[in-house]
Formats: sequence, structure tokens, C-alpha cells
Amino acid sequence: MGFNKIHKTTWLVSIGITLLGGIFSNLAAREFPHRAKVVNLENLTHNVKRITLQPQDPTSFAFTPGQYVFLKASDEYIAEFKAQYPAGRTHTSRAYSCASSPSDPSQFDLIVKHYTAPPDKDVPPGIVSTYIHEHLRVGDMVDLSDPSGNLYTGSDQQTERPIVVVAGGVGASPFVGLLTYWFEQEINLKREIYFFLGVRSARDLLLHEQFSRWGETKKNFHYIPALSDPQDEDNWQGATGYINVVLDNYFKESLDADVYMAGPPIMIRFTRKVLDAKGVNSDQIHRDSIRVR
Ligand SMILES: Cc1cc2nc3c(=O)[nH]c(=O)nc-3n(C[C@H](O)[C@H](O)[C@H](O)COP(=O)(O)OP(=O)(O)OC[C@H]3O[C@@H](n4cnc5c(N)ncnc54)[C@H](O)[C@@H]3O)c2cc1C
Repeated sequence: MGFNKIHKTTWLVSIGITLLGGIFSNLAAREFPHRAKVVNLENLTHNVKRITLQPQDPTSFAFTPGQYVFLKASDEYIAEFKAQYPAGRTHTSRAYSCASSPSDPSQFDLIVKHYTAPPDKDVPPGIVSTYIHEHLRVGDMVDLSDPSGNLYTGSDQQTERPIVVVAGGVGASPFVGLLTYWFEQEINLKREIYFFLGVRSARDLLLHEQFSRWGETKKNFHYIPALSDPQDEDNWQGATGYINVVLDNYFKESLDADVYMAGPPIMIRFTRKVLDAKGVNSDQIHRDSIRVR
């Protein structure tokens, strides 16, 4: 057998294994080896809540900054939901980013937006976010997957390049944890950190006071919130427009930075175009696409 033929056969076998692996990993039921107790629930905006969870066994539940976990709705709730919406979707768990630093293993936060039914569609509300917003109570137990995701791997620790964070709406969640972690590690003493947060109007600005305070007190930290659809009553003096445009206008020249993004796929796509045009290396761009479907 010539090199080409061997190479082709090996390639086909490896593609086959990869495809089968993918199919089986999708078929395999997601596992929820961790239990955690709800110890606090707090409204951050009109449709975003922060839940604080205490893992039953903190030694086995270890996450790195920026990772996410799948949270499973209770069987009773799912049964009720299915009875109410027999033709609705059937998933029972969803991914949520850890919104606190891992430095305190005894508890951690999730920040969750409530996905209601779009006003123009006769469809059920979001299954898991409705469970979290309307059914979870302090003292309840929830089932969680192992943490996963590699938004932040620490691969840029040796550089002093600026860090640029771009978040859309609830895409700010992983960065609440990551920014806290960076401040704990004093990364901001040697690197500039720019935090761009895009939301629709002032009522959607989550943790605005905390981020503004960080902007005033944390060295080299710059908070740039932007509203894409400011309302008259917002009296907004800050940046307006989509966050990719705000970013484009902020850095006029080329940019050499490590960039972290989380938000809706469309925000990621347009921001990526801006970063490419500014010459940011693709291996310096890290992202979590918060796809809701
Ligand atoms: C890596 C990752 C991290 C994430 N982190 C976060 C986070 O930190 N915080 C956060 O809030 N979210 C996060 N998400 C999103 C989250 O995982 C869920 O997608 C979100 O909570 C919606 O799930 P749900 O079960 O409530 O909604 P779903 O049941 O999936 O419904 C979603 C929307 O579709 C509508 N819908 C339902 N049925 C139909 C239909 N037949 N036709 C049309 N529309 C329909 C619903 O009304 C709802 O508006 C993350 C996602 C990923 C992938």
C-alpha cells in the first residue's frame, strides 16, 4: 500500500471514530454527580437573578474561573411543565456560567436570565430558566454536572498585554467570576483590563454599580457599558450602539490584546470581525457563545 493510500485509510478510520464518538457522546445521558443547596436568590435586573449555591461536597466540585455547569430542573417541575406544554421542548438541564471566583470553594454564584416566550409567538417559556426564576427557593437542592469549558485557561499569564473583555447582556456572568479572580491575583497591577458590556437599555444593566465601583477603585480597570436602545427615562450619558461598534470606535488603531468574549452568537460574530480588522491574533481570542434555542 502506498503512503497516500495508507494515509487516506487512516484518515477515514479516524474520521469514522470521531463521528461515532460524537454520536455516542451526544446519545450518552449527561451526568449530574453534584448536589448543591440554594443559599441565596437575588434580583439583579427585571429579568436576571443571581443564585448562590453551596455544593454538598466542595472537595469534589472544583471549577476554574469562567467555566460553566449544567443545572438540572427537578423531575416534579419537568413533569408539570410537560403536562402544561405537551408539544414543548424536552430538555431538562441548561448550561450556566460560574459567576464568582473559585477562591471560595464553599459556595458559588450563577447569574441567570429568564427567557420568557417571545411576545409574537405562541410557544412555552424557557424550561430551565423558568424553573430557576419561578420555582427555586432558598433551601432547595439542585443537581449539577461537572464544570466544563475553557474560556480562560491561563495561557496568557506570562504576558503584559492588555486584556479586553466583551460581554453581551447575561454574557457578563463568567466575567463577574473572572474579573474577581484577576483582581485577587493582582493581574490588573501589570495589565490594563477593558470591560465592554453591551445591553439594550438601562434596566438591563446588571451589576452596574459594582462594575462602576471597580472602575473607580481597581487600578488599570476600565468599564465601558453601552446601551443599544437607550430610553428617554434612562438619561444615559455613556456610550450608545452595538458593543462591536463601541469597541471599534474605542480602539482606533490596531490592537494587541488578549480578548475574552461571551454573549449571543451574533455579538460574537460581529465583534470577531472588528478584532480581525484590528489584527488581533486568533489564538489570543477566547469566547463562550451563549446560544439559546
Ligand atoms: C456555554 C454557555 C453558557 C451559558 N451561560 C449562561 C449564563 O451564565 N446565564 C444565562 O442566563 N444563560 C446562560 N446560557 C444560556 C442557557 O444555557 C440557556 O440556553 C437559557 O437559560 C435558556 O434555557 P431555557 O431552558 O430556559 O430555554 P429554552 O426552553 O431552551 O427556550 C429558549 C427560548 O425559546 C423559546 N421557545 C420555546 N419553544 C419554542 C419553539 N417551539 N419555537 C420558538 N421558540 C421557542 C422560549 O420561550 C425561550 O424564549 C449559557 C449557554 C451556554 C451554551
